[in-house]
Amino acid sequence: MTDVPPPIAEILETRANDALSLNDRYLNPQLGRIVRTLGVDRNWQRGEGSYLIDEHGERYLDLLSGYGVFALGRNHPDVRAGMKEALDAQSANLPQLGVSVLTGVLAEQLVTRAPSRITAMVTANSGTEAVEAAIKLARAATGRPRIIYAEHAFHGLTLGSLSLNGNAEFRDGFGPLLADCSAVPFGDLPSLERELASGDVAAFIVEPIQGKGVNLPPPQYLGAAQAACRASGALFVCDEVQSGLGRTGRFLALEHWGLDPDMICLAKVLSGGFVPVGALLISSQVRDRVFDAMERGVRHGSTFGGNDLAAAAGLATLRVIDNEGLVERAERMGALLLELTQPLVERYAIVREVRGLGLMWAIELGAPPRGANRRVWEGVERRQPGLAAQLLTVPLFRRHRIFCQVAGHRMNVVKALPPLIIEEEDIHRFAAALDDVLARTERLPRAFAGLAWQMARGSARARSR
Ligand code: PMP
Repeated sequence: MTDVPPPIAEILETRANDALSLNDRYLNPQLGRIVRTLGVDRNWQRGEGSYLIDEHGERYLDLLSGYGVFALGRNHPDVRAGMKEALDAQSANLPQLGVSVLTGVLAEQLVTRAPSRITAMVTANSGTEAVEAAIKLARAATGRPRIIYAEHAFHGLTLGSLSLNGNAEFRDGFGPLLADCSAVPFGDLPSLERELASGDVAAFIVEPIQGKGVNLPPPQYLGAAQAACRASGALFVCDEVQSGLGRTGRFLALEHWGLDPDMICLAKVLSGGFVPVGALLISSQVRDRVFDAMERGVRHGSTFGGNDLAAAAGLATLRVIDNEGLVERAERMGALLLELTQPLVERYAIVREVRGLGLMWAIELGAPPRGANRRVWEGVERRQPGLAAQLLTVPLFRRHRIFCQVAGHRMNVVKALPPLIIEEEDIHRFAAALDDVLARTERLPRAFAGLAWQMARGSARARSR
């Protein structure tokens, strides 16, 4: 017989260091291997603002931000308070045949902040669920089958969203995926127009800035794509799961290009960093075509969509974004980050580009121009494409206690999604740490040897547990 689970406080007190061993036994041991091999295997004890804190009290600047969830930092007191208020109210949560006021007010808030075409919200519990809803509603609203997406796109990992995923490493092995989904190169308008010309496209679903690789669109692309969709009767859908809610220095990234889409997918930041939540914002045209009769009033939805705790987290998050001026702050801090890091392109031969918008930032590495260093780089890349990016992430973590990520498989791009509350001094600290790590990496053979040694040490530790 299994034991009754202890109270939460007791678990946190007595088993604080068991997370990785529990992961290996009951969750995903391959994740455990990755974490140990990269040397990021810490027993995380607490989160505080921009910082993660391990069992020794060491503080790590968290620029991974839970894949972009922690825009407000971790454990923001106002969101905790908002969620507690909802719990303490013992609200009439999830009436199902009825609605709760918190979800209604969240919809009102989001619709009011969105461009003019948006008039309603469909609830969801995650980013991928918002994208799934967009696929379904686009088909139902237009009566057309095809969905167009961009190469290198990431829209989630459930089967519908995966069918719009432009990365083979996620798709492979899970087919057959959804029929009638086709990729076009991101930024290539003629390719999109060719697809739209067939007249059977329900929607073009696109991230305004691609999360994998932090790819920015050519300046006129998104506006022209929207116009081309409209002209052909297809819907234009922005996936703002990662770029939305202040991240790029606008409430929605689409504001940079004055877009007015038919649907907008949101999630991540809306959670305040606490509970799963997603939302699909839609036009009245879409709403009225999909939910066009009482018999079809519940043809899309989910049991937990619109639950009160998620709505409370979303509302409290919007309050903090407003009260703390986080949209403007993201713009300011993002400009500072670019200003401090763009000179790295001139300073280091392996830095190809530093790019970003607001606090969505990336640095791309490339092979040194010539000589022995180039041969070493190419040798390593042949054996393990994308390994060179870890030349930055591993020492950033180990030497500088800064947590960030590579921006996709087989890509030499390192990415940061700093919390929007990040302090100016932490931006300076990150830029200085990058400079230090790149300076050491210039001695490439030694840097690769050091990395290989660290990886081997990580693997050895992984085996010894
Ligand atoms: N769309 C985009 C643009 C994303 O970045 C992500 C998550 N990285 C998703 C959708 C999927 O969101 P979730 O993981 O909440 O399903």
